Amino acid sequence: MLNTTTATTAWEQHATCAGTPIELWYGPDERPESGHEAYWRRRHAKTLCTQCPVRTQCLADELIQPRADQHGIRGGMTPREREQLLATWRRDGLIPADKPASSETVRRLLIQKFPTASAS
Ligand code: SF4
Repeated sequence: MLNTTTATTAWEQHATCAGTPIELWYGPDERPESGHEAYWRRRHAKTLCTQCPVRTQCLADELIQPRADQHGIRGGMTPREREQLLATWRRDGLIPADKPASSETVRRLLIQKFPTASAS
């Protein structure tokens, strides 16, 4: 979930998640979340992401972040799903195994994965 008051890139101004409750994207902060709650919360967040006009940009920016900085739903994927996507790309030789993928490479691969999405 993006905070448009601190947005630093143009695409963030078009984020579907702007203004939504932060708990939707990261879960409740002050109490445990049941598996049932987490399932429906993630499903709702992912649905918003599928309708987001800047999904490719969002996911590309997240996929180049260090693993330790991966939190919450971004680009319609959980941290585990993002890691699995990167692992698949590494296994297939599409990104380096020993260093982070470049932003350009990640964007190109995402456009192939989501061909109707924009990369601008
Ligand atoms: S893809 Fe999802 S998390 Fe990313 S900007 Fe859009 S709504 Fe927000």
